Amino acid sequence: MEQKNHVYNNVLDLVGNTPLVKLNRITSQFKGDFYAKVEAFNPGQSSKDRIALYIIEQAEKKGILSPGDTIIETTSGNTGFSIAMVSIIKGYECVLAVSSKSSPDKIDMLKTMGAKVYVCPAHVSADDPRSYYEVAKRLHSEMKGSVYINQYFNQLNIDAHYYSTGPEIWKQTEGQITHLVACSGTGGTISGTAKYLKAQNPNIKVIGVDAFGSVIKKYHATREFDEKEIYPYRIEGLGKNLIPAATDFDVIDDFVKVTDEESAHTARELARTEGIFAGYTSGAAMQAIKQLSEAGTFGENDKVVIIFPDHGARYMSKVYSDKWMSDQGFFDSVNGAAAESIQY
Ligand code: PMP
Repeated sequence: MEQKNHVYNNVLDLVGNTPLVKLNRITSQFKGDFYAKVEAFNPGQSSKDRIALYIIEQAEKKGILSPGDTIIETTSGNTGFSIAMVSIIKGYECVLAVSSKSSPDKIDMLKTMGAKVYVCPAHVSADDPRSYYEVAKRLHSEMKGSVYINQYFNQLNIDAHYYSTGPEIWKQTEGQITHLVACSGTGGTISGTAKYLKAQNPNIKVIGVDAFGSVIKKYHATREFDEKEIYPYRIEGLGKNLIPAATDFDVIDDFVKVTDEESAHTARELARTEGIFAGYTSGAAMQAIKQLSEAGTFGENDKVVIIFPDHGARYMSKVYSDKWMSDQGFFDSVNGAAAESIQY
């Protein structure tokens, strides 16, 4: 709809078209130019606004959704928030089946955004009828006219980024981008963006960021699912213990693994050096840039785009809490706590 005098019709008009911001200090020792695609500028403060809006609008176009219908998903993270936000504006019910491991803050945030939250036991297997996967599936089958977003297995997750994030980056870099570095969770962001960019210039290199404890990097290299790769890690939204259908492994050239500890320190460093207060996976993506630079991946004339998926505010009780960092054993003689506050 037409916009007048810079007034937006509603928050959904603000989804996408996020800024590309040059990094100056944190990359000063590295060859090449580095630009961050700061997805926290979406109204829901993450890249997941794009997929929530796109998938819901595709369902509307196909005539699957009518006002009052229900949208279902299995996440307490960014995608849940984005779906809740889109549902409010468009008049849908939003049902989220989440794990009992989700923090009370997250559940309160989703409820505030009008979502109906089913808290499902965390320590049951995925095929247990009480698991959040099974609860979501059951609710979907029982509710006529409901849509199950199923972001890990939905090709529309890739399309959302093919039609928005990819073209934005191409335009913002005036076609000069040489490398894309992005975290891979569902894989939708990296796959859709890479697919679009490689269609413009097949020489662009695409590097995914994966966690130690995730099977994704090994699967990319061998096309085999290696259970031994799987163990617990702390970064949320990055890596996986299954192979998501929303990842197109053919458009990704390589993967880099990053540790919880280094990613956390790099997220804090981003705030201190660039004034960008971003989420934990943005720290992970930036940590991957450090490792790639040290390995000599980038040349003087390269233009590297890094995706920062969400805002730092969602991590106040984790990466940005000195207590949490200390409890994880992440502080040592090199990397210490944030500056003391001064008491008057
Ligand atoms: N970072 C965060 C904070 C996320 O929530 C996600 C989504 N799981 C990602 C990165 C990865 O994005 P994608 O799912 O598109 O691979």
